[in-house]
Amino acid sequence: MQPSMFNVRVPLEARDEVFLMNTLTDAQLVVSRDVVSLLDRFTGREPGREIEWGAFDRAEREAVDLLFDNGFIVADRKADQRRLDKYFTAVKNDNSELHVTVLTTLQCNFACDYCFQGDHGDHNKFAEKMTLETAAKVGDWIEREMDKVHPERFTLMFFGGEPLLNLPVMYYLAERMWGASGSRGVPMSITVITNGLMLTPEVVDRLAPYGLNGFKITLDGDRDAHNRMRPLRGGQGTFDRIIENIRKVAGRTKIAIGGNFDESSVDSYPALLEFLREQEFADKLLNVNFKPVVRTEAARPKGVLPLVPVGANGQPLKPLGGTCMTNVGEAGASGCDSCAFLDDKMEFLRKETKRHGFRTSDGVHNGPCHIHHTHAQTIGPDGSLYACPGFTGEKGLSTGHIDGRLDASRESARQNFDRLHPWKECKDCAFIPTCAGGCLVASHTQLGDMNMPTCHKPSFESAVISLAHDVSSAA
Ligand code: SF4
Ligand code: SF4
Repeated sequence: MQPSMFNVRVPLEARDEVFLMNTLTDAQLVVSRDVVSLLDRFTGREPGREIEWGAFDRAEREAVDLLFDNGFIVADRKADQRRLDKYFTAVKNDNSELHVTVLTTLQCNFACDYCFQGDHGDHNKFAEKMTLETAAKVGDWIEREMDKVHPERFTLMFFGGEPLLNLPVMYYLAERMWGASGSRGVPMSITVITNGLMLTPEVVDRLAPYGLNGFKITLDGDRDAHNRMRPLRGGQGTFDRIIENIRKVAGRTKIAIGGNFDESSVDSYPALLEFLREQEFADKLLNVNFKPVVRTEAARPKGVLPLVPVGANGQPLKPLGGTCMTNVGEAGASGCDSCAFLDDKMEFLRKETKRHGFRTSDGVHNGPCHIHHTHAQTIGPDGSLYACPGFTGEKGLSTGHIDGRLDASRESARQNFDRLHPWKECKDCAFIPTCAGGCLVASHTQLGDMNMPTCHKPSFESAVISLAHDVSSAA
């Protein structure tokens, strides 16, 4: 027997205790140092040199049983590996939820500083927009999936581009899927990821009867930082209008705030949090979460040295092909020296968010993200299927089509995504069950290899320290 490789421990100096967590079982214990010493007695045991149980008194045996039952002690390393394989198979085949993200359009009315989509150049002129005819086929496909997967619940997420630029498709799918899920007895919910500029009470009221769960709106820092990062094409700011829109709808639906930060905007977030706390809708905000920006060569700001991701063939890699950068790469950041800086700042922002009274992610339970779930699918405006929203628009990475068409390229992409296991490069990292090797969009754009992890371990390490203090103070 030996300690599990997924154990994480955080000393709680003030209490002379230790927080123990097993990331695979998600067991969390606050224990005395004696228990940790007991656990250490299992370290370095080689096969054949088993523990002498006679050396343990009754209390120690009970503690060992507790540690074993919660996965902190395992038979051997192979047992840990078997449990990990079983866990990822269960994640992959999990049918408790059918989660479908529909990109109603790749057009956008913003010209974000870090995104090469949106109202830059002539992007919107050529960007795809879903037709009602395609939406009807999307409805057919979702119904077939419901009958195949038999999920316990169905989540429909609208994303883009800016999804509110295609309201007819949103309304059609919301209404149709509500009927389809209702007739199958499957609870349905709708979430919309939007820049918030066109969010009105009318939009909320139109979606409300169909299981509307809420809107996620992006604010990239305080007024000045946001207006710089997320302007309209002519440079006009968007902050005031978004806040006004939130004010109008906050009593009617849930609102979550998301934000993308980089070195230039991170210090403005405390001012944003202060501003939000003072608003009369503060208690209506569901949660507030921030993440680092994924910058690509095409989106780099003027005056910054280019960091061009290069593939194995030495050719520059393409930046992300279609989706809004707002929500891509939840664990991603640029592949440059700023990564460590951003990891530090994640922790700073989590603490600030909590200090201002808002709920936020604990930074440990981040995944495995949707790309590892077979029954989480993304549909592009033309009906192409993708493994996650981050790959939308790169037709070569489409894994299928709602009309069932099979071609060699999609089949090969599907098989590639099916085989992905970047965590196998992570050796004995204790965070594999929650991280799974990081954001594969970041691996693709920055490393040119989706089977290579993009690692933000320092971010997990600092997050688990915060979690330990939160858990122990609540105990
Ligand atoms: S790979 Fe995962 S974390 Fe990255 S964009 Fe896709 S779903 Fe999000
Ligand atoms: S990417 Fe880093 S933090 Fe994530 S599992 Fe791999 S080694 Fe651990």
